[in-house]
Amino acid sequence: MSFRPADALGLQRVLEPRGAGLLPQQAERIDPSLPIARDELLIDVECLNIDSASFHQISNSCAGDSAKIQQAVLDLVARRGKHHNPVTGSGGMLIGTVREIGPDFPVAEKPVKVGDRIATLVSLSLTPLEIRKIRALHPAIDRVDIEGHAILFSSGLFARLPSDLPETVALAVLDVAGAPAQTRKLVGGGDTVLVVGGGGKSGVLCLYEAKKKAGVTTIALDYSDAAIERLRKLPFVDHVIQADARKPLEVMQKVSHLTQGKMADVVINVANLPETEMSCILSARQRGLVYFFSMATSFSRAALGAEGVGADVDLRIGNGYTEGHADLALQILRESPALRELFTQTYK
Ligand code: NAP
Repeated sequence: MSFRPADALGLQRVLEPRGAGLLPQQAERIDPSLPIARDELLIDVECLNIDSASFHQISNSCAGDSAKIQQAVLDLVARRGKHHNPVTGSGGMLIGTVREIGPDFPVAEKPVKVGDRIATLVSLSLTPLEIRKIRALHPAIDRVDIEGHAILFSSGLFARLPSDLPETVALAVLDVAGAPAQTRKLVGGGDTVLVVGGGGKSGVLCLYEAKKKAGVTTIALDYSDAAIERLRKLPFVDHVIQADARKPLEVMQKVSHLTQGKMADVVINVANLPETEMSCILSARQRGLVYFFSMATSFSRAALGAEGVGADVDLRIGNGYTEGHADLALQILRESPALRELFTQTYK
């Protein structure tokens, strides 16, 4: 059997621009072809969980037409060798079955065997991917079932799928695993925590995790009636605000009213659309903290916007990874019957 040379970061798979020393995530086009390298993992892919901001951008650009969305996904992956949306810059993640393990893949450190069912925990925006066929599109949950293969570099992260949760549920939860794990680090006892876009999958996980700390007050903000209804049923959500996160003054006034002018100590942005930065910044107290997990966040809008209104708040970029994030996210579903039911109903 022949293999490409080992290459932990996948640099040899960068096709465009070549020779510029770019990483696969930065590259315009990467090479998903076989054989794998000595330290790579080959995965038969079953479904892609497209990043929410990315899926909504693609769906809007196709006017919600299913056939056009499928063609856009196929075209994007054929053109770039990865599912890397050039508008949002984001990807998503996948589940599949391990077909082949290169002889130098670090199995001692990352135990895995052929036939294991895994979810990748690195973004599709850097994962070599070839789609042979789209089997089904699930637009309500940003999921695409496919036939194809993907390649994981030895530096890549993955999780073996748990046997006690439906795979599609695990996929949805693992996609946003960084958000509740960062919430655990950022929220302190007694904090007032506002989650913008709180009715979505990362939102409810963050609200649950925040509420575990003593004396925390949780506020969820979302837009649609369906999301508001969903949030009102969750026992760990103290207050629900219905508002459009793109309207900063309206949001600020509602948060101010609810908190009697104190505003939130920690604001977590998990909305899946652009132009929501200022709602979050204006809802945080002076020297509070805003955590931008949303991939639709603009660094310049957030940084210049905060400066422009004299908001001395700590602005954090939403790193999708923090140690133990996958275990924590899955653990939340085991702990919370309400969330388990919500995810099982939604991500069938
Ligand atoms: P999701 O399930 O689609 O949740 C997004 C929520 O935002 C939904 O409840 C949605 O409500 C709400 N929303 C939409 N428009 C709104 C508005 N105008 N005002 C207030 N709320 C609004 O998305 P998710 O999977 O949790 O992902 C959340 C964000 O995290 C996305 O931007 C995604 O790209 C990002 N993400 C980041 C990372 C990372 O590594 N940093 C990883 C994965 C995902 P409706 O459903 O009613 O529209």
